Amino acid sequence: MNVTAGVFGLQGDVEEHLSALETARARTGIGGESILVKSVEDVKRVDALVIPGGESTVMGGLSSVKGLMPSLRERIGGGLPTLGTCAGMILLAKKAQDRVVGETRQASIGALDVVVERNSFGRQRESFETQLSVALPGGERFPGVFIRAPTVKSVGPGVKELARLGGAVVAVQQGNVFGTAFHPELSGNTLFYEHLLGLARGGK
Ligand code: GLN
Repeated sequence: MNVTAGVFGLQGDVEEHLSALETARARTGIGGESILVKSVEDVKRVDALVIPGGESTVMGGLSSVKGLMPSLRERIGGGLPTLGTCAGMILLAKKAQDRVVGETRQASIGALDVVVERNSFGRQRESFETQLSVALPGGERFPGVFIRAPTVKSVGPGVKELARLGGAVVAVQQGNVFGTAFHPELSGNTLFYEHLLGLARGGK
């Protein structure tokens, strides 16, 4: 069964996600094409969606201007397997705050019942790599690449914590929606993409 995977392509680092999806397809044997998602038609077409890192305020603003928000909410709320990484997780979150300026009131999809704190590691630790343990089959040793990363401050009842760094929650899952504070596309480990494609295939 083929799976059409989409990478949200209005802003952010898309290339690495496309190549991680290709590797995950080779490992799982799940065929199909991967496309850039830039329009409502694209949102309607995909069986799985990746929302990359970038700048969440820009991504939210462009999604609103292009009229994508209602269809993103409808599809993701309706069970579309979705992975949001870093700014992508912020865009999925019900609520975002900034470590310095507090509540940001930015446009968001709101499909992930969490409160995130942007730029949570501050200037001293803007970018770093560290080993994580992710609570998914095969996730015992996962290289976490953090770039101006958020953390998850609180989770709603249906949300499962998948990874912590120190005391902070850095990966979550709510049914069909995964969120990571780190960048799995830069880790050389395609675990999240394999799970995403697997969920999409299961739903067909
Ligand atoms: N700091 C960015 C934001 O708040 C996220 C950074 C990233 O995606 N690497 O949107």
